[in-house]
Amino acid sequence: MADRYLSLTGTAPGRFLTRRLGLPQPAALHRWSPDRPALDGPVLHLTAGPSSLGLAPVLARTGLTVTTRRPEDTVGDPADSSARPAAVVLDATGVRDVDTLAGVHAALHPVVRSVAPSGRIVVLGAPLDPADHHQSAAQQALEGFTRSLGKEIGGGRTVNLVRLTEAGAAGSTLRFLLSPRSAYVSGQVIDVLAAAGSAPQADARQADAPQADPGRPLAGRTALVTGAARGIGAAVAETLARDGARVVVLDVPQAEQDARSLADRLGGTALTLDVAAADAGERIAAELPDGLDVLVHNAGVTRDRRLVNMPAERWSSVLDVNLASVLRTTDALLAKGTLRPGGRIVATASIAGLAGNAGQTNYGASKAGIVGLVRSLAPRALAEHGVTVNAVAPGFIETRMTAAIPLFLREAGRRMNSLAQGGLPVDVAETTAWLADPASGAVNGQVVRVCGQSLLGA
Ligand code: NAD
Repeated sequence: MADRYLSLTGTAPGRFLTRRLGLPQPAALHRWSPDRPALDGPVLHLTAGPSSLGLAPVLARTGLTVTTRRPEDTVGDPADSSARPAAVVLDATGVRDVDTLAGVHAALHPVVRSVAPSGRIVVLGAPLDPADHHQSAAQQALEGFTRSLGKEIGGGRTVNLVRLTEAGAAGSTLRFLLSPRSAYVSGQVIDVLAAAGSAPQADARQADAPQADPGRPLAGRTALVTGAARGIGAAVAETLARDGARVVVLDVPQAEQDARSLADRLGGTALTLDVAAADAGERIAAELPDGLDVLVHNAGVTRDRRLVNMPAERWSSVLDVNLASVLRTTDALLAKGTLRPGGRIVATASIAGLAGNAGQTNYGASKAGIVGLVRSLAPRALAEHGVTVNAVAPGFIETRMTAAIPLFLREAGRRMNSLAQGGLPVDVAETTAWLADPASGAVNGQVVRVCGQSLLGA
């Protein structure tokens, strides 16, 4: 279902009218396309506090022009078009107390107005130091700063915080956040904690080394996507195939025709089975004797009803498909060694699992369960199998599922986020592709919301 309000505010009279009425002003987002694959301008690299991060070579690898400005440099004329960055990266890893925190204001205050529409602000922070409450206070402050700026900046711009220990390990994350691929990811805090004593079997391909074909980071890899015959899963399959993966499109037998036609179009294969079947993991393993590199648990169902009216069958069918099947197949594929070292598991949570939602006690429980699974399994899966485990948590995404929501609820769902619009399946797919990237080995145990910074469950 098209977002007619977004089309209306894209016209001059529509913009005039909706502004006069004080209504939300969604901007047309710049998403990745073959014609416009990168942001349309330079990256401004700023620093607050002392830093020894060594960011320059990592930023150079984004392919964007980088302008570095130190705290002591004077600010250029904002009317000068070269001073209009498409992105700002603020290195605040050296912020250790309230005094150095002032450097965040000093760096961004003069430039925030000049960031181009659909631009990016990425704040880089350090992990909180449990032995230093001043450093922890100042670094935690970056989170409130990032989320507040994301809510006020407007114009399709996004603001995210990456906590990192080493610039090199964050290469794929910065390339994602500094690109049109992350158009609907805002207000997120992502930990990229390079391999502190990690992964004995970690695949060398995890390193952020230059790739043979940077446009196809998944070349030579096999990816299986559950629930991929339509909706978000189909977009994930398409995006992973674009990035070079051989895809296996898995869905229920009733969706066989759609699964086959998508698999044929992508040069992959279709596999029809119910992920909730007790032997689903064994059947997937049998289908992939040469192993699997990327496992995307996307299949999901809703059976909404308030708890007071919810029969046990409605509860268990949702818990079984959305959570129990994910636990079972993950355990089976790790135990059998089907997931190769360097592998990636991406599970699908939801903002309903973070914020809760009336009528969705079963669904909210199942999606919160995914968060628990990811956080617990991630360190062990990396240490024992060299496999990372992360989740995407979509917000309001324009699919058949959300098209069925009654008009006023649907409008509220679309507008109640910092970008004032719903996301597209491709937004979840691009986030999944970043997590699946061989260079994303230091991104582990993260739950990344793809929600335009939804006001729910912030
Ligand atoms: P969808 O209903 O359009 O597609 C789900 C797909 O999963 C279908 O093709 C379906 O046949 C398949 N599926 C269902 N049960 C299965 C089973 N037992 N075995 C194999 N395949 C099965 O849903 P969608 O909107 O594309 O959502 C995809 C995922 O994203 C789900 O996990 C959903 O909970 C989650 N999500 C969606 C939104 C949204 O706004 N659309 C928001 C948050 C989370």
